[in-house]
Amino acid sequence: MHKLLQPDLYVRFLDDIPLAELKNRGIRGLLIDLDNTVTEWGRATLRPEVEAWFAGLKEHGLKACLVSNNSGRRVQTVAANLGIPAISRAGKPRRRAFRKAIALLGTGVRDTAVIGDQVLTDVLGGKRLGLYTVLVMPINSREFIGTRLVRQVEKLITRRFVLSDLKSSE
Ligand SMILES: [Mg+2]
Repeated sequence: MHKLLQPDLYVRFLDDIPLAELKNRGIRGLLIDLDNTVTEWGRATLRPEVEAWFAGLKEHGLKACLVSNNSGRRVQTVAANLGIPAISRAGKPRRRAFRKAIALLGTGVRDTAVIGDQVLTDVLGGKRLGLYTVLVMPINSREFIGTRLVRQVEKLITRRFVLSDLKSSE
């Protein structure tokens, strides 16, 4: 169980993801969470740096698909603005939406990565399917109360990773 919750990479923001390194790993497709990964919760507009990051994906030849548990039209709106496909009501950490997104991108399990801010949906769902997983820090804390509770658990887990990483690098 522990391994299913441990991201392969943990960064602060989308900008910090080393795209060249992902490409070297053979990654061709990215399944990207929306809320608190790409935008603040409930927002449909993108910050300029996020738009620039998505433009950079295209330059690197990386395909992207939004995979969100949110049911709103907002998911489709953001994806349409970015010119990429999207799957809403994804039901992460269930694997079905990830499989569907991989099929949409025309990639496979071995060359697709998941990017998201939640261990218990994004990382767990990706790991269950054997995908490379990248955890980012949530953009802000304007969330559902339920998500907040989950976040507390995630904080504890993440702290343990950081501590064990420090120890193993000593
Ligand atoms: Mg999220």
